[in-house]
Amino acid sequence: MAVYQYRCAEHGVLEVARPIGTAAGSEPCPDCATPAPRVFTAPRLSLGSARNRALIDRTARTADQPAVVSAPPSRRPPARAPNPALARLPRP
Ligand SMILES: [Zn+2]
Repeated sequence: MAVYQYRCAEHGVLEVARPIGTAAGSEPCPDCATPAPRVFTAPRLSLGSARNRALIDRTARTADQPAVVSAPPSRRPPARAPNPALARLPRP
């Protein structure tokens, strides 16, 4: 399903859900039944889950609105686990 927009001169924009490729050139306005011509808009494409979209939006926002911090992060990164192969090396 796709959402198509139509604009009634008197009542504004109305949205109609139809299968892709079946949009009519005009739809009757639900308030006045006047044929409302179709309005062409950018497609509303989904980019996966809401979590993915939020991440993409946050990442894009950092290009012109970087987060300002007053101090470095308090947690230190976890220490790397020692390589177990090093324990088998001969000791001097
Ligand atoms: Zn109308």
